Amino acid sequence: MAKGNINVAVENIFPLIKKFLYSDHEIFLRELISNATDATLKLKHISNVGDAKVEYGNPIIEVKIDKKGKKLHIIDQGLGMTAEEVKKYINEIAFSGAEEFLDKYKDKADETGIIGHFGLGFYSSFMVAEKVEILTKSFKEGEDAAHWTCDGSPEYTLVKGKKKDRGTEIILHIADDSTEFLEESRIKELLQKYNKFMPIPIKFGTKEVSVELPKDAKEDAKPEKKTIDNIINNPNPAWTKQPADLKDEDYKSFYRELYPMQFEEPLFHIHLNVDYPFNLTGILYFPKMTNDLNMQKDKIQLYQNQVFVTDNVEGIVPEFLTMLRGVIDSPDIPLNVSRSYLQADGAVKKIASYITRKVADKLKSLFNDNREDFEKKWNDIKIVIEYGMLSEEKFFEKADAFALYPTIDGKYYTYDELYNKIKANQTDKDDKLVILYASNKDEQHSYIEAAKAKGYEVLLLDSPIVSHLIQKLETTKENISFARVDGDHIDNLIKKEDTKISKLSDDEKKTLDELLKEVIPSEKFMVQLEPMDSNASPFIITQPEFMRRMKEMQQTGGGGGMFGMGNMPEMYNLVVNTNSKLVSEILGTKTKKKQERLINQSLDLARLSQGLLKGEELTNFIKRSYDMIK
Ligand code: ADP
Ligand code: MG
Repeated sequence: MAKGNINVAVENIFPLIKKFLYSDHEIFLRELISNATDATLKLKHISNVGDAKVEYGNPIIEVKIDKKGKKLHIIDQGLGMTAEEVKKYINEIAFSGAEEFLDKYKDKADETGIIGHFGLGFYSSFMVAEKVEILTKSFKEGEDAAHWTCDGSPEYTLVKGKKKDRGTEIILHIADDSTEFLEESRIKELLQKYNKFMPIPIKFGTKEVSVELPKDAKEDAKPEKKTIDNIINNPNPAWTKQPADLKDEDYKSFYRELYPMQFEEPLFHIHLNVDYPFNLTGILYFPKMTNDLNMQKDKIQLYQNQVFVTDNVEGIVPEFLTMLRGVIDSPDIPLNVSRSYLQADGAVKKIASYITRKVADKLKSLFNDNREDFEKKWNDIKIVIEYGMLSEEKFFEKADAFALYPTIDGKYYTYDELYNKIKANQTDKDDKLVILYASNKDEQHSYIEAAKAKGYEVLLLDSPIVSHLIQKLETTKENISFARVDGDHIDNLIKKEDTKISKLSDDEKKTLDELLKEVIPSEKFMVQLEPMDSNASPFIITQPEFMRRMKEMQQTGGGGGMFGMGNMPEMYNLVVNTNSKLVSEILGTKTKKKQERLINQSLDLARLSQGLLKGEELTNFIKRSYDMIK
């Protein structure tokens, strides 16, 4: 029997381990299973290389609860350790790692988020155990089994063990404050969370399955049951395979495995696979998106060699892609560091730009290969693409090839296609190309119709960040501007000639202006007299593009904030068509009362077409209308 002291500077380091890792005690199981997996994979490697006579077989890892004995067992059939190796790897090397780790973080007890992400390995078992035993037997011929015991003080014992078969069994004597880890449901939950895709099968308990009866079985024969190992994990998840070996259905079923509660199928997937200059594999899925920007993020899961690490990928994946789902697996992402450090890390930056590029390439090939299908999916993916165009310059450049601009009639143009289509008809007298758009087909119906009557194309742009995107396009592309159809009378949105002849004399205009000012509330409307087409509506309410856009941008963050639009009252322009028949009629009407009635009625009609007439005003309007036709 050997006794010894673990090589420590700090007298009692175990209480420290416990204290500093309090928020993340559960990771001990991930660490121990990772070690068991490493040991098994190392053995596989040795047997492949043929260095030693090893029967690899079909090794599994077993997790066993002994509730009565208050013990948790983690058993592997890996390469095991000799007594010498236990001394070296457990007493010296592993511990120096633990010490270094604690040294680094002992002043930062608050940043519990970073502590607990790797670094402690084997010794994290002391977060939940008052005593830990290692029973191990090396694969090397002629070596005795070893039995190591440590009760949480720097003292350990190491004696010859009785273990017969190759591998390692870790026994945790669970401490009184950690008895949750003796509950089957809790352990199962942890295995599901961290070990669902680990490469070695993990057994946790057994289950009964019914055996199929032979064909010639008697009718009253009872179906037979047999007990088999309950394997928790899928050791060969889709992302570890070659894309060529997977069918569309395989990707879909992997999606269901990842998100069992998600009933909607993903729209498409992207298989990531790179080994230089960093290692990364994974599968990303585009789910159906809504226009809700606050939709739950953090659905992408991050793995390190098939071990779950986190589902908070902020800083690793470009923000616009956090709306996607799936898996990223990389041994090259530094995990025991703070988020801000992570964002500055060179490898992580490369990974982010690689992922951005892959996503752009995939979208482009989807667009090229099956445009019709891509158009169908556009509504469900546009929010990610538009967000990406706004936030990543590289993506913006690439997206020019596949970003679509749908029209109100259901046609889809790329930017270049749109440009060529409308260039001749929608360039104004100052040589500026005006791109018309609507945000709501129903609410802006009359304006859309007016634009269409001129042969103009009207886009339907309805995502919540579209005002930001428009702003960006206007500054990137040359000599264009976007105008929402209800921003002004159509002739003013795309100005072609300088002046239209007015039917009214200057005197008449003055009379009209004064009359309107008496009736129309000046705090709500800026009256503007315009000689327009005599067929155009007599009264038109518009909201200037600039003002409306700033407001929208402010609502969705950024943009107009600096203009202080927040306190701006809701103001509209009232464009009065001086060439309309109705205006002549108002001027020609004898009594003031009648004139007022006509003006109010016209104003209300204009409000009605903008959806601005509500409540008491609407009631009054209806009453007045009945009076007029009585
Ligand atoms: P790491 O896994 O990062 O090396 P750990 O503290 O988890 O650090 O483990 C320390 C060492 O102990 C391992 O590198 C390995 O040599 C040895 N070890 C731990 N668990 C096992 C095991 N189940 N089988 C064989 N060796 C093990
Ligand atoms: Mg380890």
